[in-house]
Amino acid sequence: MNSFTDELDRRLASLREQNLFRELRRVDSATGPRIKIGGQTLLNFSSNDYLGLANHPALKAAAVAAIDQFGAGAGASRLICGSLAPFHELEAALAAFKMTGAALTFSTGYAAAVGTITALLGKDDIIILDKLVHACIVDAAKLSGAKLRVFAHNDLNDLEDKLKWADQFSKAECGMRKAEILIITESIFSMDGDAAPLLEIVALKQKYGAWLMVDEAHATGIIGHDGRGLADELGVSDQIEIQMGTLGKALGASGGYICGSRALIDFLVNRARSFIFSTAPVPAAAAAATAGIKLVQSAEGEALRRQLQQRITTFKSEIGNRKSEILCAIIPLILDDEEKALAAAVRLREQNIFVPAIRYPTVARGAARLRLTLTAAHTPEDVLQLSNALKTLDLGL
Ligand SMILES: *Cc1c(COP(=O)(O)O)cnc(C)c1O
Repeated sequence: MNSFTDELDRRLASLREQNLFRELRRVDSATGPRIKIGGQTLLNFSSNDYLGLANHPALKAAAVAAIDQFGAGAGASRLICGSLAPFHELEAALAAFKMTGAALTFSTGYAAAVGTITALLGKDDIIILDKLVHACIVDAAKLSGAKLRVFAHNDLNDLEDKLKWADQFSKAECGMRKAEILIITESIFSMDGDAAPLLEIVALKQKYGAWLMVDEAHATGIIGHDGRGLADELGVSDQIEIQMGTLGKALGASGGYICGSRALIDFLVNRARSFIFSTAPVPAAAAAATAGIKLVQSAEGEALRRQLQQRITTFKSEIGNRKSEILCAIIPLILDDEEKALAAAVRLREQNIFVPAIRYPTVARGAARLRLTLTAAHTPEDVLQLSNALKTLDLGL
């Protein structure tokens, strides 16, 4: 046992030396624009709860009602006996919201990516990823055994080069089943807050006969009509074979989803191992997510999106930079150096502001940053407090 602990101690020391050590901070309050950590109340600019729904009375009431009716746990995986009514209601609401033939939910977005990508692609296939896609997609693609190619972030020429290679490769492999080619991108990127050129990606996927999967984790609930996402906003939803996202960000609850054709969903129920071999989520999570989906499509949801837009506009005019054609609450302040990012986060915390220093492996080495997220639940004063605190740090923004 000693050598085991010694080895881990060595590895931890190495993380500390590189300023890459991470630790959990206990939060003694509900999540929201203010959180309590270690007796200190901090203004929180780190949450993906963009519309403030995680604490919305409608979502909480839906969760409580589901517990009363369906209990605290689901008892088994969905295929065994845990396919409780709240999951079916949620999937019907999701399919209607995203205007797809069907939907399937998973315990997390991570599980949705892993289950879906490994079910659809195998070692004879090819997956082409944007360089900045989320870790769950990278992990899923590796686990699938498919040949992987990575294109430079949002670089259509590089994507086309990879597609040309894939096309040649699949033609050369005669005799076997035709290699499928899957392109995967996010619509709004989680750590940079920029948008993928979805129209152009759709044109390329059609030209080369590839499939397309789009992760709308940071767009669902906030971008496009009723918050349906960027694919809907650009009118290309029906060109995307696999639409993925999470119920845990703007939708205020927890879980992951896949939206697409009935055939896709039926196939995943039969083949997605993270769905099949895992106990169903708690019914309260499904009921809260259904309430979140209803809310983002309501007049109140629209008002919350407008409020979020106002907070973003205020902040950006205060720090005086950055174009923004899209509603995106993720504002990265890229400081490069890990130590510098950590020091900036500490100094903000001294001013009662919580912003995480995002470091490798979440972003590339030497691309450390403060990742600010604004929410509709912040007041204009909160945003000014943040911009004033940032000005005192002299980060050269
Ligand atoms: C958060 C996130 C996920 C994972 O979703 P969870 O429900 O948190 O597991 C997937 N993709 C992107 C882009 C994300 O930001």
